[in-house]
Amino acid sequence: MNKIGIYYAYWTHDWDADFHPFVDKVADLGFDVLEVNAGTIARMSSEERLRLKAHADDRGIILTYCIGLPHAYDVASPDAAVRAKGVGFLQQMAKAVGEMGGGRIGGILHGAWPSTAIPDGGSDPRPYLDRSVVSMKEAAKTAEDHNVIFNVEVVNRFEQFMLNTCQQALEYVAAVGSPNVKILLDTFHLNIEEDFVGEALVQAGDKLGHLHIGENNRMPPGYGHMPWTEIAAALRRINYSGYVVMEPFVMPGGQVGRDIKVYRDLAVGLDLDKEAQKALWLMRGVLK
Ligand code: MN
Repeated sequence: MNKIGIYYAYWTHDWDADFHPFVDKVADLGFDVLEVNAGTIARMSSEERLRLKAHADDRGIILTYCIGLPHAYDVASPDAAVRAKGVGFLQQMAKAVGEMGGGRIGGILHGAWPSTAIPDGGSDPRPYLDRSVVSMKEAAKTAEDHNVIFNVEVVNRFEQFMLNTCQQALEYVAAVGSPNVKILLDTFHLNIEEDFVGEALVQAGDKLGHLHIGENNRMPPGYGHMPWTEIAAALRRINYSGYVVMEPFVMPGGQVGRDIKVYRDLAVGLDLDKEAQKALWLMRGVLK
């Protein structure tokens, strides 16, 4: 049975947050994993990080980490100074998570997010991918030294232009060539870009380092048309033993609402905690 988690930003309007209340909340709801913002973790003091890790351990919660790189840290940028800052930021996050015992950092680590268009006005992502691979090779060494896996997330074309399919991500991680760089797939994005969601998961195989689950409408699992049975069968077929982290976004407002483009309230009449727990129970049944 895969360990199941949820992303804290389901409950927040801002990316920065105090994660301690969320450790208690998700433990009380019955989750195994809490995913938090890797950028916030990197900016915390060592003491604050260790206190958070101790709290999570105390509640039996595994922490995972996620970020979309801000444009100032774009490791694919044509500007070498920006790329260097980006590599430094990836290294800083790897060291920070390493201090907490290591673990998985996922998200748009290979470029800037959100990136709705190719910054140079062109239509060829290749130069960005080539520069990103060079940056990632450098950052991967730090990940290897600090017991961290970087999982590059495949997202839809309206959020980023570099890795929109599992096949593209397989080519990217092969080019990087580090055992500590794998793939994060997300059912919400797969639903938009792939022919079949289950086939994309099978295609990832042992390169699948992390999985986000979400409905086509980013509601908690159970409120959309995602083929959960097909997804579970695909995960069994590749013997996926990693974590399954739901990433619903239902509230407009704040930077989270703006970045995710939640322009209407999807949570009308819903108790967010209860819905998270219902989705957890659904997924425990589906994934067993
Ligand atoms: Mn995701």
